[in-house]
Amino acid sequence: MTYSGQRLPQKRSLVTALPGPRSEALTARRDRVVAAGVGSSVPVYAADADGGVIVDVDGNSLIDLGSGIAVTGVGASHPAVAAAIAEQAARFTHTCFMVTPYEGYVRVAEELAELTPGDHAKRTALFNSGAEAVENAIKVARLATGRSAVVAFDHAYHGRTNLTLALTAKAMPYKAHFGPFAPDIHRVPMSYPYRDPAGLTGAQAAARAIEQIERQIGADSVAAVVIEPIQGEGGFIVPAPGFLPALADWATAHGVVFIADEVQTGLARTGAWFASAHEGVVPDIVTMAKGIAGGMPLAAITGRAELLDAVHAGGLGGTYGGNPVACAAALATLEVMRTEDLPARARRIEEIARPRLSALAGELAVVGDVRGRGAMLALELVEPGGADPAPALAKTVAAEALSHGVVVLTCGSYGNVIRLLPPLVIGDDLLSDGLDVLAQALRTHGR
Ligand SMILES: *Cc1c(COP(=O)(O)O)cnc(C)c1O
Repeated sequence: MTYSGQRLPQKRSLVTALPGPRSEALTARRDRVVAAGVGSSVPVYAADADGGVIVDVDGNSLIDLGSGIAVTGVGASHPAVAAAIAEQAARFTHTCFMVTPYEGYVRVAEELAELTPGDHAKRTALFNSGAEAVENAIKVARLATGRSAVVAFDHAYHGRTNLTLALTAKAMPYKAHFGPFAPDIHRVPMSYPYRDPAGLTGAQAAARAIEQIERQIGADSVAAVVIEPIQGEGGFIVPAPGFLPALADWATAHGVVFIADEVQTGLARTGAWFASAHEGVVPDIVTMAKGIAGGMPLAAITGRAELLDAVHAGGLGGTYGGNPVACAAALATLEVMRTEDLPARARRIEEIARPRLSALAGELAVVGDVRGRGAMLALELVEPGGADPAPALAKTVAAEALSHGVVVLTCGSYGNVIRLLPPLVIGDDLLSDGLDVLAQALRTHGR
């Protein structure tokens, strides 16, 4: 039985216009003290959240189709996760694993060795954020291979630190004016079925990328290829079948570390524990964060023992990495995902949502593409009659949905993608209501 939120009523209900007066007052206070560079896509302040709803400071109950960017798959206050956090916090909040270690960290590593693809010997290191995980995966790959070049893809998003910005593809808002960026990062074309030449197969798209790598860098200079199995911020781009396996095979053949950045796709979100598994790809290193700890900051890299153990003691770590409260939250989250079979729940969400999104694509010329897997689904919005991106429409539709009490996020290199990332525990009725509101917003503005 799935815990679909029992503490708060699982329904949409608006008692003020959005944002309400209390949210507006908080925005005024915020503008005086919070850095302008930190944006919020929904100017509504949260007071409570449970299952598939967020209740704001004015008492409005919103349907959450974003999970705080794919984080709260188990909901934002699952009782098992909340209890594990409280229990651990009452014992100790921190000792630093690099000083006085504790069992929770070891147990998380044991779990991730089980859950990540492949049955080879694995090692794990824990960090605080997705960007930190990606940085550390690259440190490991460089040290283990003795090479320095790193390959990333068009439309990639890997974080906001200097090295991960070098990997990230999009100038605004992420990179513009923040350079110079870390050197020896190389970008090659992604497989983007909606925008690639018609009929380009996954194998052909991989050959296009590999040809560029070999010509511009040389295979024996490449330490790692870093790729999101389904791109997140870049627009929920699902590569053509065969693309990921071909790249992984090429990497193996040339001693290149294949790093799957599963920070957004990982941990049940796409209907499997990891998106790599949909095509039987076994990455050398998997990066994880977002969904792993029910909202607590925790990130991980899990990879081949010989790669991670190549690093000298003290070469990896950080003061807070694998914080014990975050580890307790992760263990509870993974247990919930297993006992409530949230990978199956993600597949069920796709079963409900995809036919409705496809029907919208049939009805409205502005819906150019419907894609994604499991509970990671998206609509790419375009100008009618072609494929020119329609970012203003995506923004308007998200704002319209919000005004009716539904939180949906946008993404995409062109800013024209509406993405759905509901909590995996959202109830069917609540999900349907959220999809109705989204459909109506599209019909209102997309004709
Ligand atoms: C969000 C994200 C990151 C960065 O994670 P942070 O925790 O924000 O640093 C890295 N990679 C992918 C694929 C992401 O979606």
